[in-house]
Amino acid sequence: MVSAGTHRPYRVALTGGIASGKTTVANLFAKLGVTVLDADQIARDVVELGTPALAAIRERFGAQVLDNDGRLNRRALRERVFADSESRRALEAITHPAILAEMERRSRAAGGAYVILAIPLLVENGRRTPVDRLLVVDCPEQLQLNRVMARDGGTLAQAQAILNAQAKRHDRLAAADDVLVNDGDPGQLSAQVEALHRRYLDLAGVRS
Ligand code: ADP
Repeated sequence: MVSAGTHRPYRVALTGGIASGKTTVANLFAKLGVTVLDADQIARDVVELGTPALAAIRERFGAQVLDNDGRLNRRALRERVFADSESRRALEAITHPAILAEMERRSRAAGGAYVILAIPLLVENGRRTPVDRLLVVDCPEQLQLNRVMARDGGTLAQAQAILNAQAKRHDRLAAADDVLVNDGDPGQLSAQVEALHRRYLDLAGVRS
């Protein structure tokens, strides 16, 4: 019997390039009842008003990186640490442990056999989040470009520039334990997610 709070579920990180289909895949896992934790959301939550991380940021960088109401001013902070690797490291030393601890807390609270941790920039950030398995959503670059333009608008050159700034496709694939090739229709994707779901239940030690 798996009870919430005491047991740490098996952790599957979900990553992939822009418009590869991460959100679509995450939603399909969620429909199967799997808890999906969003690393970007957690990164925002741990620096909310009243958090120890925000207090530490204020201590280190001063009130200039806060708004008048005391909330973090992300743009000011980005400008402050941009092109200053020491400041960036200091910021990461504050936020990274807070993010990991919160992921751990939410994973345990989720219950269930496994959780999905959606971490878009996992490979770019050097895989510093400890997980049990890495699932990469992949599709041909041309499809990525078409999906970026269809979803977000913009030109081909803009879409290409975003792709160029991200990890190379082969680096992501080299890091993957599982690759979900999202180059078909939504029905196909759903079947692939169901197959992975069965595999993760198995890996987590729960027979379905
Ligand atoms: P990401 O979260 O990786 O940026 P999304 O899940 O938002 O990517 O997918 C990018 C776009 O492509 C969305 O508009 C989504 O609806 C669409 N899309 C994703 N997978 C498919 C698919 N298999 N067939 C058709 N459209 C898809």
